[in-house]
Amino acid sequence: MNLLLIRLIIFAVLFFAGLKLYRMYREWKLDRDGPQQDGDQGNRMVRCRWCQVHLPEDDALRERGDWFCSGEHRDKYLAERKEEQKEENKQERDD
Ligand SMILES: [Zn+2]
Repeated sequence: MNLLLIRLIIFAVLFFAGLKLYRMYREWKLDRDGPQQDGDQGNRMVRCRWCQVHLPEDDALRERGDWFCSGEHRDKYLAERKEEQKEENKQERDD
């Protein structure tokens, strides 16, 4: 009877220790990956489509669902997309 009680207590202790460790691990992980989640409070980070640099949404430019760090990069990206579309059209005509 006593042995059973001791086993039960040991199991309970192990269980709670495991739970606590798991919670600590989760908090540690949240701390480490945190910055992405803080983003929802108005200062979300977005990535420039052209140079892949990350910057706050407030400082970024938006064009047709894409983000850019500056007007220069936006123009470069749009110019390149135009070129690509032109070439696609050309290929279609060649066929
Ligand atoms: Zn850029």
